[in-house]
Amino acid sequence: MKPVQSELKRWMEQNENFQENYNRTRQEVLADPEIKEFLAAHPKLKKNEINKSLIKLYEYKTQSKQCDRCKSFGSCQNMLQGYSPILHVEDNEIHLSYEKCHSRVDYERQQKQHKLIKSLFMPKEIMQATIADIDSDPERSEAVRQLLHFVGQVKEGLPKKGIYFYGPFGVGKTYFLGALANQLKEKNISSTLIYMPEFVREIKASFKDDSINDKIDYFKKADVLMLDDIGAELHSAWFRDEILGSILQYRMMEGLPVFFTSNYSMDQLEGHLATTRGGVEEVKAGRIMERIKQVSKEVRIAGGNRRDI
Ligand code: ADP
Ligand code: MG
Repeated sequence: MKPVQSELKRWMEQNENFQENYNRTRQEVLADPEIKEFLAAHPKLKKNEINKSLIKLYEYKTQSKQCDRCKSFGSCQNMLQGYSPILHVEDNEIHLSYEKCHSRVDYERQQKQHKLIKSLFMPKEIMQATIADIDSDPERSEAVRQLLHFVGQVKEGLPKKGIYFYGPFGVGKTYFLGALANQLKEKNISSTLIYMPEFVREIKASFKDDSINDKIDYFKKADVLMLDDIGAELHSAWFRDEILGSILQYRMMEGLPVFFTSNYSMDQLEGHLATTRGGVEEVKAGRIMERIKQVSKEVRIAGGNRRDI
């Protein structure tokens, strides 16, 4: 008999504790200012329903609401990270649901925006460039004006022409591209930036895995294409005519802007493009230049070499 009795005693004690705990929790929950407010807003709720939903009310009480207890999305303490609880009443019953919190919405927006810039072989500092950081050097003011003009036009749709920035080494041409890509990201426009010498290598390498057509297609159709350092790539008639030529042709027909940076002016680039290992082909170079002129406007960037600072 003894074991049964002691079991029973233990069970009763536990039960007593349970009752005590339950009562304490209930009081705590009902004393919570937000729960009080919720119940006051729904005076028709029956006591029975409130008691039945105590666990939901408790859960609501313990969770951070719209980030009131968390500093960031990463430090969210809620059961469902980045979700905030909401209490509502339907057919006289209490329901608890969750919605995305501000931090999560912000985080997702940032993640989505982050994906708006696709860059290949571009330095990290360039990817963090902003238009606001471009100093007011008078030698750069025309370039900045053109950049802002492009950004301003975006409201009415993507302009058909980008900009061909040229100037000496180190004046900040590539930096301009990074700053523009970040500015366009804020407007939910995606940019694809690529360093020309690597672009040639990348395309050549994709012969091996048959991905070349997909890649060309990707560059043809990118919202805003930015080709960094045109003229610095290896001279290849094939790349010039078959790859660059077909990408530019497509973008010209579709009215999609291209941005370039180069150490050469357009005139100088033409001479440069004409000379490949196969000899001098002025007509073919001229054809490419025509397309470059259709998709971009030539703008000079002057000033000192920023790499010396
Ligand atoms: P370019 O492409 O004309 O050769 P870069 O854009 O690479 O020149 O700029 C040269 C260096 O100066 C880089 O390290 C770049 O980050 C820095 N730089 C250029 N413009 C700015 C700027 N406005 N503010 C801060 N750093 C800049
Ligand atoms: Mg550069």
